[in-house]
Amino acid sequence: MRHEDQSLIEPLGLFGGTFDPVHYGHLRCAEQARQKLNLKNLSLLPVGIPPHRKTPQATIRQRLEMLKLAQLEFPLLDIDERETLRSGPSYMVDTLQELRAQTPHRPILLLMGQDTANQLHSWYHWEQLFVLSHIVILTRPGAKAEYRQDLAKLMQWRLSPDVPSLLHSEAGGVLHLDVSPTDASATTIKSIIRLGRSPSSMLPAAVLDYINENRLYVQV
Ligand code: ATP
Repeated sequence: MRHEDQSLIEPLGLFGGTFDPVHYGHLRCAEQARQKLNLKNLSLLPVGIPPHRKTPQATIRQRLEMLKLAQLEFPLLDIDERETLRSGPSYMVDTLQELRAQTPHRPILLLMGQDTANQLHSWYHWEQLFVLSHIVILTRPGAKAEYRQDLAKLMQWRLSPDVPSLLHSEAGGVLHLDVSPTDASATTIKSIIRLGRSPSSMLPAAVLDYINENRLYVQV
């Protein structure tokens, strides 16, 4: 392999999400995973236009601003804005192809919670994701592994026993990673706000202040 700038082969972690709003479930899991995977670079990747779910309630600008406020408490997590800058639905396969073209030898780790992994077969060109990146599945309270048969087969075939084996190559492995449970979800946060209560234990105070100042999520 040709000598490359070290920063171009340093493994890159990506944690995609709607972040409507960002909460401790995302942040603590991402930070814990960053440590367990020994990653210098882990980027939160806010979706621009979600292809698989309804339009977020907060605007792209508001979701980005909340992520930046969360970063004050989690300074080692980066934010990758590329999907918010693209037009049309944000397909993960496009994002990975773009990154792969920029850094062909860099290990890329796509992180997601178990509930998201269970639905991976519904993503656009989902089989390509396994060719372009490693898939790292994080435990999430209330979600157990339940895969469609073809997805289960593919996962089983690509299963990696540990982090070093995974990082040995740039893509193609699957790893299940245990993270301490954080019982938070955007849906719960929104319903608590709609009830006129405060979900203060579920997200950084700066993010909650922003939500209150902008009167977000008060209505469905
Ligand atoms: P919603 O409640 O609307 O489904 P969400 O809280 O799941 O939203 P997303 O932004 O859709 O948030 O999730 C982004 C990623 O974070 C997904 O891969 C999801 O599985 C993961 N995730 C969210 N909350 C947790 C949590 N508490 N523990 C582990 N992973 C989580």
